[in-house]
Amino acid sequence: MKVETIAVHAGREPDPSTGALREPIHLSTTFERGEDGNYPHGYYYSRAGNPNRASLERAIAALEGGADAVSFASGSAATLAAFTLAAPGGHIVCSSDCYHGTAKQLRDLLPAWGLTAEFVDTTDLGAVEHALRLPTALLWVETPSNPLLRVSDIAALSRLARVHGALLGCDNTFASPILQRPFEFGADLVMHSTTKYLGGHSDVLGGIVVLREAGSGLSRLREFQGAGGGVPSPFDCWLLLRSLATLPLRVRAQAASALEVAQFLAADERIEKVYYPGLATHPGHALAARQMRDGFGAVVSCQVRGGAPEALSSAARAKLFTRATSLGGVESLIEHRASMEGPYSYTPQNLLRLSIGLENVADLIADLDQALDG
Ligand SMILES: *Cc1c(COP(=O)(O)O)cnc(C)c1O
Repeated sequence: MKVETIAVHAGREPDPSTGALREPIHLSTTFERGEDGNYPHGYYYSRAGNPNRASLERAIAALEGGADAVSFASGSAATLAAFTLAAPGGHIVCSSDCYHGTAKQLRDLLPAWGLTAEFVDTTDLGAVEHALRLPTALLWVETPSNPLLRVSDIAALSRLARVHGALLGCDNTFASPILQRPFEFGADLVMHSTTKYLGGHSDVLGGIVVLREAGSGLSRLREFQGAGGGVPSPFDCWLLLRSLATLPLRVRAQAASALEVAQFLAADERIEKVYYPGLATHPGHALAARQMRDGFGAVVSCQVRGGAPEALSSAARAKLFTRATSLGGVESLIEHRASMEGPYSYTPQNLLRLSIGLENVADLIADLDQALDG
């Protein structure tokens, strides 16, 4: 089945008790036992299992082409769950240009649990190979990365991970399963902040880990989900499932507009540098063209000529782009990234990150054009 069909149908069936086409939201926390003491529908308590959550997990697993998926209350909770697969005492090698919250977990939370981490430029396979000299449980890659849109070679990293006995996990948030399916290149786990493209409307927080194969990793994550308890609410699962139907249309349209915005910025002398893998000048362009399809994502970063004041004042003049963090929603956002990331950030001070939404692209470009006129 093709991805558009999966997006509409996976995880959905008419409600057997009413025939309702759209699934009810199952708010009940508890489920009745049969006279024999069993649970005839397989559910007994909503932390351990909920019908809306099960539908969502089936749908996202199908979109990624994985065996199963385990969902959480945020992308960060999903990342943390994946990192527990390196326990006890394991070592994690992670893309240096990763989501700042991911770096914070590895730096500030996990050492207390005996896990160690090393950050490496995963676009440099030699550097990754060197990092894997230490026994490594998990190699974690983010591609395209945040916020510099670096592109790492998932197939090559999965070969290196395999040789060194590590699992390869891929944060696929920026690409979405529409533009990139890491399992096709040998990844073992795929993680999403569903807060971004999968939700797509800036109104639900969530995260998910998809596993290529059923096995002990899946059982451990399922146990961490149920016993750890960081589960998404039934309503959040329902909202997310609803959003998935339009995911292919949204993401492709957003990516097409992002390319136009990137081309506009690349030709503008008020801009010092543009980061977008869809531009032929991007160092990861050829690789992105091989491992992505239907577009290069809808996040564009750029450095405004000058410094932080010029970048901040350009963002201040934007009218259509909203000054806010996050990405993947239907509305376009603009963000001065360094001031968001805090003291450990090595993001250039004059960098703005744009999340391109579904507005008309000519309107978006006109807004950037006037905003850059300082
Ligand atoms: C937002 C984001 C996360 C964290 O997800 P939350 O839902 O905010 O917890 C992780 N990775 C990437 C690439 C993200 O953009």
